[in-house]
Amino acid sequence: MIIYGLLTSPIVLGAKQDLCATCNVAGPHVILRRVRWAEIFFVPVLPVWINHRLVCTNCGAETKLGYGQVRRALSSGKLPLPHRATFDEYADALWNDNQRRPSEADFDPVERNPKRSAWNVYLKLWPVLVVVLIAAIAFWPKSVEAPSPRTAHDCWIGSDGNLAGCRMFDGTVLGEAIGSPTTCYFVEPMPSGDYGLTCRQ
Ligand SMILES: [Zn+2]
Repeated sequence: MIIYGLLTSPIVLGAKQDLCATCNVAGPHVILRRVRWAEIFFVPVLPVWINHRLVCTNCGAETKLGYGQVRRALSSGKLPLPHRATFDEYADALWNDNQRRPSEADFDPVERNPKRSAWNVYLKLWPVLVVVLIAAIAFWPKSVEAPSPRTAHDCWIGSDGNLAGCRMFDGTVLGEAIGSPTTCYFVEPMPSGDYGLTCRQ
């Protein structure tokens, strides 16, 4: 049985001042990344969906941001947005208050969140984890222990004390099966040329 589900992790990427189109308040907004993970056994394994929003901290209204737009904003420190419908009204009010007319570019600066959540680290590391996992599965040793080769052979020591013969694994006897039985240890096939064998008396 596999337990699976979906989990959404919100990550605050940065903050900026902006003029909210919904509540009309000029105040702090956050750049939010939401990642939806498919999870198996409560372990998030696959990011299936990512989106970005500019969220007003006063009223919670959200404005959709593109992925590239957010990337540029975080690397350049500026998030220029299209002309805000209520900006001129806001600028007029500020002018009437203190004779300072703001520029719409005053809302461009973005402050990156220096303490992004562990979720963002996980999202960045995720491709690495997948590669490591695939490599581990592909290269996992099939069997740690190699079977030790058979080495014990039935052999015979002749009356002169020399090795008279041995029975090979296929049943054939090399030499002669005469004398006292013993056990010799060697690996088949027999090497060619001169060699010595150690046998247990
Ligand atoms: Zn708002």
